[in-house]
Amino acid sequence: MRIDVLGVGFDNLTMAEAVAEGLRLVNSPGCHYVVTPNPEIVEVCRENLAAKIAVNEADLVLPDGIGVVKGAAMLGTPLKEKTPGIEFAAGLMEGMAKEGKSLFLLGAKPGVADMAARNLERKYPGLVIAGTHDGYFKEDAPVVEEIRRSGADAVFVCLGAPKQELWMKKHGPETGAHLLCGLGGSLDVFAGVVERAPKFWSDHGLEWFYRLCKEPRRIGRMMKLPLFLVHVKQEKRKK
Ligand code: UDP
Repeated sequence: MRIDVLGVGFDNLTMAEAVAEGLRLVNSPGCHYVVTPNPEIVEVCRENLAAKIAVNEADLVLPDGIGVVKGAAMLGTPLKEKTPGIEFAAGLMEGMAKEGKSLFLLGAKPGVADMAARNLERKYPGLVIAGTHDGYFKEDAPVVEEIRRSGADAVFVCLGAPKQELWMKKHGPETGAHLLCGLGGSLDVFAGVVERAPKFWSDHGLEWFYRLCKEPRRIGRMMKLPLFLVHVKQEKRKK
């Protein structure tokens, strides 16, 4: 059973369990998708029904950061641990590399997915990068067709939220891939264009603050974090 945090149901898994489940899905018939909501996306889901449906219908819903884990604990239904999308992706690629599986990278500014592809092929020998496409396309159909023709087993869909969640729900089955993962800005990190917070910051639940210092323009979006905590407190009182 999923753990509800303000209307979004999260799978209660350790990172190792989440990666094992991801690998199982890559090897399962049919199409599946994974989402990794943070408090900001939970807040988006409160206002956007289509986003909420796309998130809750995912086969795996993983808490991206410490905010959701804290929220779940405050509501008296703790989650085992945070399972950041980018770390889940790393574990998945490690497993896929061992099995010689193929991956399509979709998203980010032109050139970024190619840079990420080169880095990932070096880092995970055995992993096949089936293709790449930037995230600033006008029509979906040619992109879907490109993925389908690539024969990729899995696709990283990095278009930002909730665009990527809606895209995966709508187009996932047409791509022919068994697993799609919505991973926000991960391709920028894999390409080396954006740096992830050093371990100290993430260990202390301050990754969001590090990111804010590096990209002050995120302040508007990050104001959703205190709002999330207010809503969790309201929900707790109701309970
Ligand atoms: N992006 C994209 N197409 C769009 C909008 C965004 O490919 O139409 C990309 C953007 O270049 C970035 C990622 O989606 O690489 C979103 O990153 P963001 O930092 O917003 O995501 P987060 O990691 O915070 O979810």
